[in-house]
Amino acid sequence: MGADEEKLNLMNLDRAAMAAWFEGRGEKPFRAQQVLKWIHQHGIDDFDAMTNLSKALREDLKAVAEIRAPRIVADQGSSDGTRKWLFELDDGNRIESVYIPEPERATLCISSQVGCALNCSFCSTARQGFNRNLLTAEIIGQLWAVKRLLSQDNLRPISNVVLMGMGEPLLNFDNVVSATELMQDDFAYALSKRRVTLSTAGVVPALRQLAEVTDISLALSLHAPDDGLRSRLVPLNQKYPIGEVLQACREYVGDGRRRLTVEYVMLEGVNDSDEQARALAKLLQHIRAKVNLIPFNPFPATVFRRSSRERIDSFRDVLHRSGIVTITRKTRGDDIDAACGQLAGDFKDRTRRRKRLAVEANGGAN
Ligand code: SAH
Repeated sequence: MGADEEKLNLMNLDRAAMAAWFEGRGEKPFRAQQVLKWIHQHGIDDFDAMTNLSKALREDLKAVAEIRAPRIVADQGSSDGTRKWLFELDDGNRIESVYIPEPERATLCISSQVGCALNCSFCSTARQGFNRNLLTAEIIGQLWAVKRLLSQDNLRPISNVVLMGMGEPLLNFDNVVSATELMQDDFAYALSKRRVTLSTAGVVPALRQLAEVTDISLALSLHAPDDGLRSRLVPLNQKYPIGEVLQACREYVGDGRRRLTVEYVMLEGVNDSDEQARALAKLLQHIRAKVNLIPFNPFPATVFRRSSRERIDSFRDVLHRSGIVTITRKTRGDDIDAACGQLAGDFKDRTRRRKRLAVEANGGAN
């Protein structure tokens, strides 16, 4: 390999891909297990430290491969213990991850795309537009880098990962699936399928495909009990309406013990009436689901407001009376813009959405 040829970043490979790569180089496939352990369990990015590999193999690897995660360029701590990291990618794009410690667990919320193309009206990431999909290394690298940092600082290790940061994970299918394979791999992060959750706005064909390759936990961003309102809040609904999405979710969770998490952002006067709660309960009648009510997190120039505490409690009580397990998600990290829907990163908007929005705001005058 010539010096100017790009090295293979081993962080892009899950176990199957890495075993195949080693085999292709005339090495035993179990090298993949050894190398995965060094990278993901020991946080090693230097081949010289991989002492159970021969010197010759280490030299060989150094010549053709590298181990590289996105670089942390900012680290913010909230008064409630939540932390947010800004990562810089090789092309200068920036993405965010959020760490949420609780007494019994610590959750890392990671991004799957630079920006998001779905344009949900209540989400600040949407305002930034969409740039590109993240590579597997850029997805798992968020976990890799944060895990290293937490152990240095003696903080509670990550027990749960949620793909609820920037982006729509099902629109970056292959790389997201590889990353979740690594999260669950015994030679990498060894998280159980209950502790890895993918949140989607409901890309129906991809949801069906997901069911074929994995059984990680699923969360659906529903946000409205009828198609008219949902299409306004989540434009993807025009393509995949509620009935189809819920059917695909029902198939995904099956009839075992698994349950779908339904996310429902509470927007004052928009989707938070008792009547809408009853309609939601009716929708969820025949599906094993629990509901997470998310108090809306405001961002500059949004037209939405957060429902009052009393309204959210009343909505929750209606669901409870219908026998639906419902919790109100605690707002965490909002003092550092780390709460749901507040992640913005920093990147060039290839969809030029910001410009379009500005034109719309001026009544299309120019
Ligand atoms: N695209 C995926 C994952 C990213 S969003 C999805 O749609 O599920 C993660 C969650 O935060 C979603 O449920 C999303 O609807 C919610 N969210 C977005 N903006 C929000 C805001 N301003 N306040 C509260 N929740 C928000």
